[in-house]
Amino acid sequence: MDEILNINNLTKAYDDINVLDHVNLTVKKGEVVVIVGPSGCGKSTLLRCINSFEPIREGKVILDGETINPCKGKLNEVRERIGMVFQNYELFPHKTVLQNMILAPVKVKKIKKKEAEKEALALLDRVGLSGKKNSYPRQLSGGQKQRVAIVRALMMNPEILLLDEITAALDPEMVREVLDVVINLAKEGRTMVIVTHEMAFARAVADRMVFIDGGRIVEEGTPDDFFENPKTERLRKFLDSFSYQ
Ligand code: ADP
Ligand code: MG
Repeated sequence: MDEILNINNLTKAYDDINVLDHVNLTVKKGEVVVIVGPSGCGKSTLLRCINSFEPIREGKVILDGETINPCKGKLNEVRERIGMVFQNYELFPHKTVLQNMILAPVKVKKIKKKEAEKEALALLDRVGLSGKKNSYPRQLSGGQKQRVAIVRALMMNPEILLLDEITAALDPEMVREVLDVVINLAKEGRTMVIVTHEMAFARAVADRMVFIDGGRIVEEGTPDDFFENPKTERLRKFLDSFSYQ
């Protein structure tokens, strides 16, 4: 498999405090990397740095062999190539599902409206939401909103999809419907970097697990090794805190 993303010695500071400390991570095409770690350890910051939402202090983010240079002209291009889905959906409240989905492809990628709509309807159908194309976000459940947010990101045909705790705000009965969409994307060979606290899902979907603590990658490995034979005390303790589930 070819490398698509290479994070090289990435260091990020807020107020002179390093929240990411010399992070190195490589993601191959078609690979699903799942990142776990305690709250505040730097998971969201890492995703935001990958996507140039945050300036970095040191190191490089290399996308398909090219160093991402977050100067103005390139920012849009980076965000076309790297899709991101957040915990809180971030759908436009005054636009319908269909309008939400075609906005960026039509505006940024200059795709014809008719074509974008056709693509959007096909994607909505795949996540069981074609009947909701004219609904507004407020008329949808959390699980439906999140499925729309995922297919909206897919409209740009990104090379990588970053998912940041996309089920964290959902009622438990809606978590499954969203995670099933992600599992299907993995089966299709989508490249994804996923931050989650859903450990059973993580184990099922990951090609590789990464544990971050205190802004550093403490341990990584295959899902089986990671969950069955954690090497560090810190990971063992972290995994133990989920064992009641
Ligand atoms: P996680 O997603 O793993 O819970 P974050 O990446 O959100 O953690 O945060 C990592 C650390 O950076 C935390 O200590 C957090 O308080 C700090 N942090 C995050 N965003 C900012 C910001 N905009 N300004 C200052 N500190 C921040
Ligand atoms: Mg976070």
